[in-house]
Amino acid sequence: MTTWNEVSLQVDGEGAEAVADVLRRYVHQGIAIEQLFPGEAWEDEPRPAGPLVVRGYFPADANTETVKEQIEQALYYMRLLYPIPKPTFKTIEEEDWADAWKQHYHPVRIGLRILIKPAWLEADVRENDIVIEMDPGMAFGTGTHPTTQLCLEACERFIKPGMTVADLGTGSGILAIAAARLGARVVVAVDVDEKAVQVAQENAARNGVSEQIRVSKGSVKELLAAGKQFEIGLANLTAKIIQTVIPDGLEKIVMPGGRFIFSGVIDEQQDEVCSALEQIGLMVSDIQQRGDWLLITTERQTT
Ligand code: SAM
Repeated sequence: MTTWNEVSLQVDGEGAEAVADVLRRYVHQGIAIEQLFPGEAWEDEPRPAGPLVVRGYFPADANTETVKEQIEQALYYMRLLYPIPKPTFKTIEEEDWADAWKQHYHPVRIGLRILIKPAWLEADVRENDIVIEMDPGMAFGTGTHPTTQLCLEACERFIKPGMTVADLGTGSGILAIAAARLGARVVVAVDVDEKAVQVAQENAARNGVSEQIRVSKGSVKELLAAGKQFEIGLANLTAKIIQTVIPDGLEKIVMPGGRFIFSGVIDEQQDEVCSALEQIGLMVSDIQQRGDWLLITTERQTT
C-alpha cells in the first residue's frame, strides 16, 4: 500500500495563495486551504485575513527526502520576503489519504458552465450548468489543480457537439468526461496507470457517458491504434513527459488542422516545449497562464 507525505503550514489569508502556488509544484491532486477556526465560514475569494492551513500530499517513496528539501528550499526563499513558518511533514497511509483529501474537496466552478462536484456532496446547481460528478480516488484530476482548470476551460472553448477527442493521461477521467458532456461524439482516453484507468471508467459511468468514452491502459501508441485521427487532443502531462512521447508520433493523434492542447508545463519551460512541438508540426496558436502553469494550444499543420 502506498504511503503519503502530508505537508502543511499555517499562514494568514494573504500568504495562503502564494504558499499554495509554491506547494502545488510538488504535490498530487492540488492544495487544500482551510480555515484554522471553522465556523467563520467563507466560500469565495478573496480569502479572509485570518489564519489558514495550507495542505498538500505527495507519495512517500524514494524521492521523499528530495521533495521535502525542495519544498523547504522554496519556502525558505519565500520566507525572505514574507513571514511564514516552517512546513510540517507527516506520513499517512493511502486509505487515510483518500479520506483526508475528501474532507478538503469542494465543488469547483470552471469556465462559464462547468461545475465539478465531489460525488459525495450536494452542490448549488444553476440552469445550464454542466455538472461533472467526480470521485478521483487515487487518480489525479479533481478539478482543483490550475492545469486541469486551464484544460477544462479550453474544452469549453474548443469542443463542439459531434467532435472526436483524444485524452492522453486521463487520470480521473475529468477532461474526457467534460469533453463528452460538451457533446463530443467519441472520446478515447488512455493512461499508463492501471488505477487511473479504473477510476476514469467508474467516473465515466457515474456521469452517464460510458457510451461515448473508451478508456484503456496505454499512451500515444494506443491512441494511434484507435484507427482514427482526432479533431481535438488533450494532454495534461509534464514538460518532460510531453518531450518523451514526441518521438512516438504524438502529432499524428490529431488530424491535420486539428487542435492539440497541452498543460502541465511551467512558464520557464515554455520555449523548450513550444519549440519541440513546432518541430513536429504542432504550431502554437495560444498560450494561457495561471500562476506558474501554462496551457499551450497548438494546431497541426495541414501540409
Ligand atoms: N487529465 C487529468 C487532468 O487534467 O487533471 C490528469 C492529468 S495528470 C497531471 C497526468 C496523468 O498522465 C496521470 O494520470 C499519469 O498517470 C498519466 N501519464 C503519465 N505519463 C503518461 C504517458 N506517457 N502516457 C499516458 N499517460 C501518462
